[in-house]
Amino acid sequence: MLFANIVIDISHEKLDKTFQYIVPDNLVEEIFEGCMVYVPFGKGNRQIKGYVVELTDENEIDISKMKYVAKVSKKGLPVESELIALAAWMKKNFGGTMNQALKTVIPVKQKENIKINRMIELALKKDEAMDKLAFYRKKHQVARERTLTALIENPRVKYEELRDKLNISPAVLRTMEEQGVVRVIKTQDYRNPVSDIKREKKDFSLNEMQKKAVDTVVAEYDAGRNHTYLLHGVTGSGKTEVYMELIAHTIEKKKSAIVLIPEIALTFQTVMRFYNRFGDRVSILNSRMSPGERYDQYLRAKEGKIDIMIGPRSALFTPFSNLGLIIIDEEHEGTYKSEQIPRYHARETAIARASMVNASVVLGSATPSVDSMYKAKNNEYVYLSLKERVNKRPLPKCLIVDMREELKSGNRSILSNRLREDIDKRLKAGEQVMLFLNRRGVSGFISCRQCGEVIKCPHCDVSLSLHNNGRMVCHYCGYSEPAPKVCPTCGSKYIGGFKAGTQKIEEIVKKEFNNARVLRMDYDTTRRKNSYEEILNAFANGEADILIGTQMIVKGHDFSNVTLVGILAADMSLNVPDYRAAERTFELLTQAAGRAGRGDKEGEVILQTYQPEHYSVVNAANQDYESFYNEEISYRRIMNYPPAGHMLVVHVTGKDETHVEGMAKNLAKEVKLGTVVGPAPATIAKINDIYRYVMYIKDESYAELVEVKDTLEKYALEDTIFKDTTVSFDFDPVNGM
Ligand code: ADP
Ligand code: ZN
Ligand code: ZN
Repeated sequence: MLFANIVIDISHEKLDKTFQYIVPDNLVEEIFEGCMVYVPFGKGNRQIKGYVVELTDENEIDISKMKYVAKVSKKGLPVESELIALAAWMKKNFGGTMNQALKTVIPVKQKENIKINRMIELALKKDEAMDKLAFYRKKHQVARERTLTALIENPRVKYEELRDKLNISPAVLRTMEEQGVVRVIKTQDYRNPVSDIKREKKDFSLNEMQKKAVDTVVAEYDAGRNHTYLLHGVTGSGKTEVYMELIAHTIEKKKSAIVLIPEIALTFQTVMRFYNRFGDRVSILNSRMSPGERYDQYLRAKEGKIDIMIGPRSALFTPFSNLGLIIIDEEHEGTYKSEQIPRYHARETAIARASMVNASVVLGSATPSVDSMYKAKNNEYVYLSLKERVNKRPLPKCLIVDMREELKSGNRSILSNRLREDIDKRLKAGEQVMLFLNRRGVSGFISCRQCGEVIKCPHCDVSLSLHNNGRMVCHYCGYSEPAPKVCPTCGSKYIGGFKAGTQKIEEIVKKEFNNARVLRMDYDTTRRKNSYEEILNAFANGEADILIGTQMIVKGHDFSNVTLVGILAADMSLNVPDYRAAERTFELLTQAAGRAGRGDKEGEVILQTYQPEHYSVVNAANQDYESFYNEEISYRRIMNYPPAGHMLVVHVTGKDETHVEGMAKNLAKEVKLGTVVGPAPATIAKINDIYRYVMYIKDESYAELVEVKDTLEKYALEDTIFKDTTVSFDFDPVNGM
């Protein structure tokens, strides 16, 4: 017998409750997870709409108490159905409960007062207005004079702007309205985050490479074939123009588009480009919006009031009922992976959503993820490339400085002699410098400053992490050994953790270049709202000579006067205990190097490293993606790491350490497929008194890992001894361990 778990009303609060119905034999063929059904409900058995969130052969209540599904709706899939089907897919492929998945895909409904917009408009002709202004002046009616001056300059202004910036009271406006000087225009509308912006027209046409990319996607789409495309092109090669052209085609076909970009790149400039082209058919989502504002944007999409939604990961669930295109810019970014259950990857999820409705997916990047390139090479994705920058500006020259040599010659500073000299030269020329400290993964690895050796697990080839007890531990397999006092390779005593942070570097730089104006951008200086943009704007406006920062400074933003980029400790991110360490390093270095020489002056990059021969460093310096990819994929193949194989991480957490360990070990015994690594205590073995264990299961087949997950999920649910533990899953982890 088949049962359907059904949500009756998918407003957010009710997602927690599903009702179970029997699927009658005649509907078994038609019904599917996500579909809309009619069911009898309540005492009067009124027929109402519901959505099937799960089909199962296990009944939750007595069958005699259950009612039957009345019918399966034949109307085209409403967008809710599509999203529920997507949630079911996410639950299956990433783990977690159906409710967790539903809450991820269904926007939260918020009852908030509808906001009324008031615009103040000049009701007089220019010369009349000038006369009136003179009149106000003569009468010393200063508030009215201020208002009119503003309106002569800009004949349509938001009420809030007059109130807040010019300090105009409602009474003043009322009088002016009565005098026929201004009109008040009230619109009761959705909170539109991108209104009142002038549109401009672009004055160029796409180049050959851009046209080819656009034509390929459009031709396939028009022929009813939808694929995932990987658009590979360095920054400035015109990817965004390609996106916009594709969106224009999508809209022509009466379809809508979702554009995902990393939150940090969601700047005013980016949004403006889309707005300039598509006007107010564009909306955005970002994390600074209130839940009400976010919900409004979802609603505008659902009601067909917009065609394009731009936003971070969660914008993927925009309820467009006619989705035609999903674009994921900077597809290699780790932020596309959710760290909350379900731990979904926006890329895979986008592809799943697109395939349900025959939409295309375009992934864009200057440094595609190894995962995506692998799929492109295996013809799972269609590869498109933009080989050069639009303006043919050459990529900057890149010099590698071996920090081991610096130490040998007696320089123990964090700045190499070459970098110091070059900073000096650039400052004297009135040019700007960026210093990028690669701080990703400064978490307790041990390295030698004389020979560059990093101590690694002999079994997993990831770096060991130093624990407080003086032992170094592998967080994949649990292997440990005592921390050495001297380098096991060269015997040097300069072995230990890397400690310098951006603040320290700021001190050093200020001391060495005491005339330079220095800005620092890191987690500490950007916690305040808008401070990120403020710092970047100040630097862009030439208010500082040197910008020091973490990975935050490598994204977006063109500074035409930056001619030198110094990369400090380039190899730092190689030491994260993560099989993607080399990939991350290559990405960061390539991007950081790309910051130099954006203007007319030629740029230079100095890359300081203890591992000058490492392929991620060498290939980043040469901006050689292909060589990097080839080396990296062979390493992944040897180690069976994704994308050559797949990896399921099982997390076990709980307050009682022995229970957590016990559960982890029992789960390990249940695994019948793939190779088990661990279980072992997690990188951070305890957070807030919650103990954490992890186990890794490697397998060639993702589907088999899904099976393993299902088995373990069931085991954990039925286990009675370690009930106080929580088990969760992460497929093909992205953001370290
Ligand atoms: P990407 O997204 O790859 O970084 P953009 O699309 O932002 O590249 O293009 C970089 C710059 O070049 C932008 O200022 C854009 O307006 C301009 N541009 C793009 N395509 C062309 C073209 N075919 N002709 C002239 N300028 C272009
Ligand atoms: Zn050494
Ligand atoms: Zn190991």
